[in-house]
Formats: sequence, C-alpha cells, structure tokens
Amino acid sequence: MKVILAQPRGFCAGVVRAIEIVERALEKYGPPVYVRHEIVHNKWVVDALKARGAKFVEDLSEVPPDGITVFSAHGVAKKVELDAQERGLHVLNATCPLVSKVHTQGRHYLRKGRTVVLIGHAGHPEVEGTLGQIPGEVLLVQSEKDVDQLTLAPETPIAYVTQTTLSVDDTKGIIAALYRKFSDVVGPGTEDICYATQNRQMALRELSKAVDVIFVVGAANSSNSNRLREIGLEAGIPTHLIANGSEIKPEWVDGVEVVGITAGASAPEVMVMDAIEALRKFGPVEVSLLPGREENMEFRVPVELLQVKNASKIGKDGSLGHSSLAKVDCG
Ligand code: SF4
Repeated sequence: MKVILAQPRGFCAGVVRAIEIVERALEKYGPPVYVRHEIVHNKWVVDALKARGAKFVEDLSEVPPDGITVFSAHGVAKKVELDAQERGLHVLNATCPLVSKVHTQGRHYLRKGRTVVLIGHAGHPEVEGTLGQIPGEVLLVQSEKDVDQLTLAPETPIAYVTQTTLSVDDTKGIIAALYRKFSDVVGPGTEDICYATQNRQMALRELSKAVDVIFVVGAANSSNSNRLREIGLEAGIPTHLIANGSEIKPEWVDGVEVVGITAGASAPEVMVMDAIEALRKFGPVEVSLLPGREENMEFRVPVELLQVKNASKIGKDGSLGHSSLAKVDCG
C-alpha cells in the first residue's frame, strides 16, 4: 500500500502558540493552570496538558479567585473577559491573533454603521466568541439559504466577516449570495479564512487527485478537520475523519492501493504517525510526501511569558507537524 501525506498538514501557528502559552504558564506559575474550554480541539493535546497540571473548565466560576486562567485559541466573548476581570483572575489570552483580527474587523464595520453578518457555524466556540466581541447585533449565516432568508431591506449597508476555519468554496458561495441580495456590501472576501485552513484545503485538493481513500486526522469537534473531510468527499474520494490509527476500519482499506493522509490544524504529527503504523498492520506500507506549500508563520506568546524557557513537551512528543518534511520517516 502506498501512503501519501499532504503538505502542509497538522499544527498551525495559532495552535502552537496556544499550547506554548499553557506550557510556559505551567513552567512559570506551576500547576494548576486553568484553561477555559479545550485549548485546541484535540484530545491528545488536552490529555497531555492535563497530565502536566492544566485543568480544563467550561465556565470561569470553576476557577478559584487566584487562578491563572488561559483563554483557548478560539477566543471568547467580551462578557467572559469582563467576568474574568471582575473576579480578578490572572488571564493569559491564547486567542489566535487571526481570530482577534476578525473581532477587530467586525467592530470596525459596526462603528461605520453597517449591519454585520458573520458567516460561520452556530455553536462553535470561535463563532460564540466573535458574536460576543462585536457590541451590537450580528447576524449569523451558515448557508446561502440563510442569506436568502434575511429580512433586511436590499439597500441596507452590509459588512460581513467570517469564521477562520470555513471551506473556501462554500464561503465564496455565501458571499456571492450576499452581493446578489444587497446593493451595498463590504467585506474581506475569503481572507478571514486563515492561511492554515486555506493551505490545508488546497493541499487536500491536490492529494485527492492521487489517492483511493483519504484519512483526515483530527477531532470530531474540530471545524477545519471537518471541512477537510467534506472537501475530500466533494472530490469523490471516500474520506474518513479519524482521531488516531485505532479508528481505521479494515474495510476502508480493503483493496486500496493508495491512501492519502492529512491532519487538521489542531492534530499533532504523532497521530499521523499512529495512523501510518495502523496501516502497516494490513501489509507493507510505502510513505511519500506530496510537495506543497511551506509554512513559516509564527505568533509570539504574551510578553509576561517571553522570558520563560519553553521546553515544549507537546512539541517534542507530538512532533509539531507543520511543514515537517524533515520529520517524516518515509522508511
Ligand atoms: Fe489561528 Fe487558523 Fe490555527 Fe485557527 S486554524 S488557530 S485561526 S492559524
């Protein structure tokens, strides 16, 4: 069986930064460090941080008054920031800078007197955070149908922003629907969809031309991983979202000659390696890489953590997967 790995895949700069913030906070302040929501949507990462003393909570009421508190990469609503401030919590904000950029854009459009439309998936923490960072009414649309159902007058000045982890093609369709329905629309095009999401989607489209089945390594609640799965399916290739190798079913690879593997932005490279190991149980496996875009993006951690020596355990154990051509054992 041939296995082709998409490039790039796995950890993005926002995920690396968020994990580093928790690791450095543990190093500087000692455990426990409280993290609101999963720091990134990946069980392996969450469990690894738990083992080192991070405590994951869904509500700030679970954090004691003097608790060091980290906000996850997805961002939080203003109300959560104010709650933390009122309670005097020591907050380290791991919101991805590219998510914060969307918050700033939304506030800017609102100040300009426009009705803000957020294109995104209801209930996702990033969407909840963005809705709560723009101090006015924001209309959430998830599909072209949702745009058709908006009851605003056609001349209403509209501005749209988007979730960072959407499908580029679906989003283009929704934006086009906004332009069809309203006469005065401004927005960033698909630029709010972050570089990592766009690069992984582009790489998967290339990969789908060369394989019989695709495995997307990622969590069931990871937005960008789900979009990768959909893109594989749209390309007509059986595509399965797996957390790790143990989830690969024998019938998925029965008679298959070429397997493609990619990983969502919150999935560590170690889980990709685990999937390859699982495939070896079905017979000899030859691994290669599909050449793709190199990523060099890095985001700085908060100033108070800059001096902390980061012996990134997750980076080491999880073999940070982004642009990891050199790290893959193709033997
Ligand atoms: Fe930031 Fe994009 Fe990574 Fe989300 S997927 S953390 S927006 S770089």
